[in-house]
Amino acid sequence: MEAEKIWMDGKMVDWNDAKIHVLTHALHYGSGVFEGIRAYETEQGAAVFRLKDHVNRLFDSAKILRMDIPYSKDEITKAIKETVKINKLNSCYIRPLVYRGFKKLGLNPFSCPVRVMIAAWEWGAYLGEEALAKGIKAITSSWQRSNINSTSAKAKICGNYVNSIFANMEAVEADVEEAILLDSDGYVAEGPGENIFWVSDGVLYTPPLTSVLEGITRKTIIKIAKDMNFEVREEFIARDVLYLADEAFFAGSAAELTPIREIDHYTIGSGERGPISKKLQEKLFSVFKGKEKQYIDWLDFVNKII
Ligand code: PMP
Repeated sequence: MEAEKIWMDGKMVDWNDAKIHVLTHALHYGSGVFEGIRAYETEQGAAVFRLKDHVNRLFDSAKILRMDIPYSKDEITKAIKETVKINKLNSCYIRPLVYRGFKKLGLNPFSCPVRVMIAAWEWGAYLGEEALAKGIKAITSSWQRSNINSTSAKAKICGNYVNSIFANMEAVEADVEEAILLDSDGYVAEGPGENIFWVSDGVLYTPPLTSVLEGITRKTIIKIAKDMNFEVREEFIARDVLYLADEAFFAGSAAELTPIREIDHYTIGSGERGPISKKLQEKLFSVFKGKEKQYIDWLDFVNKII
């Protein structure tokens, strides 16, 4: 995991020189917001998937954390594409981060400068190539998703991810690939870095947005599933509904569409990638690779702009 250049506060710097001061506010208190984006290889070169939506969410997250990003949306969009281009990447993961830098330590963040960095690097399947085809095992975490009055689920705030790290560590130590978090009322919420879907009697379900991040992959899957004439419903459910589901999968920019074959030692459906998950996954990858004309506007071709 390394590339040549990282965009830092308006300049391209060498990967190894992209450094910050140890008293950076965000390092101590999690006062930053970020995005996780993917670019895919298409016939017309690298294309960033739903870049506009990711940039909008980055600015929304910053607004919630009361940070004024010192660049326009157009400037950030251009910088993201430039970062992919300068590193000569065809398919990659892109990580923009907006964070409070160093001025004065203490919880009051307002005097600390708002800094921005964008990194990109080659990255394969988040939970492994085999996971995409065969599915993964998951457990319900004993940690719950932060209550909606404890932090903002709408914002991708760095500090929120300590909650995700607790859940992920629990999964890794239980020898499964990923965790599922329940919300503070006990309903199924999402994965540490993914939204969750399940299928029962041919209907596709996902939890409502109350305590979960409004995932761009979630939005994409809902749209393509509806276009494929599947019924899609948003429902609060207890974990036992998942145990009895015909299929289940995680959805996220990193995880893409990863089937779940076992939850808390219960086999889900037939214990492998289900037929609807497979259909949606194939369509999704075809969309990512620019093979679906209907959704071509979701792709931002890196070579076209600069
Ligand atoms: N939930 C959480 C907590 C996440 O961190 C992510 C990853 N951004 C998602 C869901 C999926 O969102 P997206 O599809 O936009 O990557």
